[in-house]
Amino acid sequence: MTLSRRDLLRSSLLTGGAGLVASMASLSVPMPGFAAAPKAGVQTTGAYRFSVGKFEITALLDGYIDAGSDLIPNYDPEVAEQLYKDQFRTPPVDKIRVPINSFVVNTGDKIILIDSGTADNMGPTLGQFTDNLKAAGIAPESVDAILLTHMHVDHISGITSKEGKAHFPNAELIVHKKDWDFWHDDSYMSQASDFLKTNSANAKAMSAPYSKRLTLIDKDGEVLPGIEAVALPGHTPGHTGFVLRSENQEVLIWGDVVHFTALQFQHPEWSIAFDIDMQQAEQTRRRMLDWVSADRVAVLGSHLEFPGLGHVARERDNYRYHQSSWQYQL
Ligand SMILES: [Zn+2]
Repeated sequence: MTLSRRDLLRSSLLTGGAGLVASMASLSVPMPGFAAAPKAGVQTTGAYRFSVGKFEITALLDGYIDAGSDLIPNYDPEVAEQLYKDQFRTPPVDKIRVPINSFVVNTGDKIILIDSGTADNMGPTLGQFTDNLKAAGIAPESVDAILLTHMHVDHISGITSKEGKAHFPNAELIVHKKDWDFWHDDSYMSQASDFLKTNSANAKAMSAPYSKRLTLIDKDGEVLPGIEAVALPGHTPGHTGFVLRSENQEVLIWGDVVHFTALQFQHPEWSIAFDIDMQQAEQTRRRMLDWVSADRVAVLGSHLEFPGLGHVARERDNYRYHQSSWQYQL
């Protein structure tokens, strides 16, 4: 049997040691022999700030989900285990941990939110977006525009309350027309899987309060000063990336081009079952990996390890991901 410090304290009280304890306490000095060091047991604030040219970007963590490896039809457990070991990560058993990130861009003129997490739609390991936004000191009223990479539940759910009230009362909502049309296509959705039906109902409910301040993108190019839309179809029909350019620096916000940081740079052919068109998603992924590695463009991903910022280098036939170092000054 082992005794904890608390047990010792309790037994001392029971055996008449109370007077000793009380007199020690009244000296108001620390009692190192009895003090515990309570652990916080939770991570610190999920927010990280960095700059790209004159743009200031705040990455916000919503939390994580453990995705079943059966979501990757091409998954090979031995290959995956080796990749995890090579990267000094704990190998997955049958679940792969995936973070969910959103971003706020302050261009100096405007404050723009890109995606918004899950709210309370996907369980207790998620839903921290709103708290982290607050902890980062960003007032919802200050947000001028919301850009969505797509309208899946883990990207749109933080913009509106369950009661249907817009969380960002002054923001214009900007989303690709193909994504908007897809999720609002009731006749298609009536025949679709439960996964699509749920996402469609949620996308419609979350976007409804913004219907009078809505802009639908229908081509690549500038959507806001310094921010260019790039169609990245496959994951969803209107899945869209945003290239931020300022003072000769650029970063591609690529949404869900990669879901599994440890796996898909070496295996771009490992698409996730949530991709509406898995082949097109793979083609888009390869096209983006080619571009950002050749041109040394930084990437910012919804599901890359938080804060989701890094670079991609060519490695033999495939790629390697290099997470960016801490930015000390903005
Ligand atoms: Zn996603």
